[in-house]
Amino acid sequence: MPTKVYTSKDAKPAVLKNKTLAVIGYGSQGHAHALNLKDSGYNVIIGLYPKSKSIEVAKKQGFKVMSTADAVKAADVIMIAAPDMKQADIYKSDIEPNLSKGKTLIFTHGLSIHFKLIKAPKDVNVVMVAPKGPGHEVRSQYKEGKGVPALIAVYQGGKVAKEIALAWAYGIGATRAGVLETSFKEETETDLFGEQAVLCGGVSALIMAGFETLVEAGYKPEMAYFECCHELKLITDLIVESGISGMRFSISETAKYGDITRGSRVITKDTKKNMKKILSEIQSGKFVNEWVKEYKGGLKNYKKLLAEGEKHQIEKVGQRLRAFMPWVAKRNIKGVQAAYDSKSGK
Ligand code: NAP
Repeated sequence: MPTKVYTSKDAKPAVLKNKTLAVIGYGSQGHAHALNLKDSGYNVIIGLYPKSKSIEVAKKQGFKVMSTADAVKAADVIMIAAPDMKQADIYKSDIEPNLSKGKTLIFTHGLSIHFKLIKAPKDVNVVMVAPKGPGHEVRSQYKEGKGVPALIAVYQGGKVAKEIALAWAYGIGATRAGVLETSFKEETETDLFGEQAVLCGGVSALIMAGFETLVEAGYKPEMAYFECCHELKLITDLIVESGISGMRFSISETAKYGDITRGSRVITKDTKKNMKKILSEIQSGKFVNEWVKEYKGGLKNYKKLLAEGEKHQIEKVGQRLRAFMPWVAKRNIKGVQAAYDSKSGK
């Protein structure tokens, strides 16, 4: 049976009326949830640490900003929208001491709860509302009267907790699109797997391997960039809009024949074996333990690998070519973020 999709008629928005909702963190997800909930008529406060660069931004956008501890004390429902690796420490120092029976903790990703980095008391509801999109999209879709679909899950608190999660999903606009119920385990493990094996890790490695293959064979790096990176968006847009078969409908017969006869030589049975290994490392907690250790050890390997990636030839070629395509440069997230930071004083 297909999974039930909840829409606005299934939500009881009133369960959050006359309640104080705290959003801890005002980054990608935090600002979108807070602004959408405020525009939906809810009472929202923001919790941040004393030197946070987001304090002024949140104040300018009309919020009362408090310390995390005070926000948790004042709130009935608390969303933790701080980075995953910081959540356990924030929870221990500022959240746990100020929780009381009947309050609700909301997460936008299940990692901290599923891997028991945070253990909430039994008399506190624990739920998840995880939009399937980045924060800026959650906000922009809401402003257009639409919404980004979301997942909800109840870790503890039963029916009451589920009503709160659905009402929150309503407040951020997600029920306008559709909300699916999952578990913390399923959301966390599939999310980590997707970003590691396909969306981020897999795609980046595929692009670089294709680019290197053409350049090493003597073709111009610019050609390699267009063929193995730039055009990816055209193809993924088609896939997102109408599925893999829909994409194949739009491409030439030659491209289609190459696709169906060559793809499985690139992504082989061995690739799938490696994917299964990556999944088992996620399921056993090996990945999270490694990541927590790396984070606490000062992110040496993380920074080294990111710096290596930034030095890859594809980055220089891409930067040059994107300058000729103003519509692409406009959406250059790093550039947009830097401009936003300097404007907002962040
Ligand atoms: P983010 O953009 O990095 O923002 C984090 C926010 O938390 C910032 O405002 C930061 O303040 C604040 N913060 C840092 N330390 C804090 C502390 N000690 N106390 C209070 N606030 C603190 O994070 P994000 O990407 O939105 O991620 C938040 C959660 O959403 C994570 O669980 C993530 O997995 C989940 N999620 C994210 C996305 C996404 O698209 N980004 C999508 C789905 C789910 P400063 O501004 O001062 O740094």
